[in-house]
Amino acid sequence: MKIGVYGGTFNPPHLGHVTAARAVFELLKLDRLLLVPAGLPPHKALPAGSPTPEQRLELTRLAGEQLGLGDRVQTLDIEVHRGGRSFTADTLRQLKEQYPDDELWLLMGTDMFLTLQDWHTPEEIFSLAGIAAFGRTEADTEELFSAQRDSLYRTYPQARIFTLTVPGVVDVSSTELRDLLARGEGANLLPPAVYGYILREGLYGTHADLKHLPLSQLRPVALSYLKHQRIPHVLGTEQEAIRLAERYGADVEKARVAALLHDCTKRLDMEEQLALCRQYGIQLDELEQRALKLLHAKTGAAIAREVFGVDDEIYRAIWWHTTGHAGMTLLEKVMYLADYIEPSRDFPGVEELRRVCYEDLDQGLLLGLEMTIQEMTAMGNPVHRATVEARDALKG
Ligand code: ATP
Repeated sequence: MKIGVYGGTFNPPHLGHVTAARAVFELLKLDRLLLVPAGLPPHKALPAGSPTPEQRLELTRLAGEQLGLGDRVQTLDIEVHRGGRSFTADTLRQLKEQYPDDELWLLMGTDMFLTLQDWHTPEEIFSLAGIAAFGRTEADTEELFSAQRDSLYRTYPQARIFTLTVPGVVDVSSTELRDLLARGEGANLLPPAVYGYILREGLYGTHADLKHLPLSQLRPVALSYLKHQRIPHVLGTEQEAIRLAERYGADVEKARVAALLHDCTKRLDMEEQLALCRQYGIQLDELEQRALKLLHAKTGAAIAREVFGVDDEIYRAIWWHTTGHAGMTLLEKVMYLADYIEPSRDFPGVEELRRVCYEDLDQGLLLGLEMTIQEMTAMGNPVHRATVEARDALKG
């Protein structure tokens, strides 16, 4: 296996890092990429007020997910938790023990490559990994690299050095980004979920009021809660909620807020869900106590209200979005169906359901509820009574 190791302070990780990582992954035909945020960077001091190591880990994890490579990308906490200065040689030694038969490639941009001879025990680094160096700007040409490559080869003949050009390189540094963020700029240079996490945690001098976020900021914040694969679904739900709200005269803004936040706790496991239920005093019936899928609607509604200050209407639209219930409001129906028929949904009957939803909202709702009941019954799963009551009320 060919494994890339990409270390950095990642304070914060930005589109320059992501673009380079994606390009090198392809150019070197890597099988896996390990992102390794430094605990105490040996090359630079962490500026005062920097995020905690845990927050940088989470930022890096979110940036890594942005690569869309699934579990071929992992963010490691080995430097963050090692203590002391984070020397690359120590990290590579540790990784070599873990992957004795695999090929390690250390990824780095121009600034790091040009100072490699000054790192802690370079000879050990060269013996453990090949070097994949790339430019950080269009101006970092092959001439710049070749002199350094020749010089390194003279001192370390055992070195393996590969220099490459990143197409569409993004010329930005974390230092610039920290300044931009403190001035309320920089969103366009960050993966959206990374920007959202920064706003959510109030990092780098951002002071977003989470209870009054404009949609342009609520969207990335909402994305920062999601597993990467769920992002198209949530963005699709927002688009569908707009269309349904416009078609039936619901409040479009509220529909969008509900759609963006409806799955904000979906990634949590049973234990975490139950902890949130205890925290927010959410009472659960017997079925809900064992059905993870039913819990996220309730805990999501609680977070939407507690953290983002949504009103009762939005709160209820999120609360009921999985089961439905008898006597749903217009906004609740829009949310329930937007989640059901958004463009990335693909299951037998979805086209028919979409057609009915835009002809008659209640008929669409009835059909959706019936399809759910049928599917659950076919799978031998219990159906929540709120769903049966919703169906019966519409039929009656
Ligand atoms: P700072 O501004 O705080 O010094 P940085 O932007 O250089 O930070 P680091 O986390 O220190 O970011 O960099 C990690 C690695 O990513 C280094 O190897 C660096 O050369 C590389 N790198 C940083 N920015 C870019 C970029 N825009 N394009 C390609 N590679 C980059």
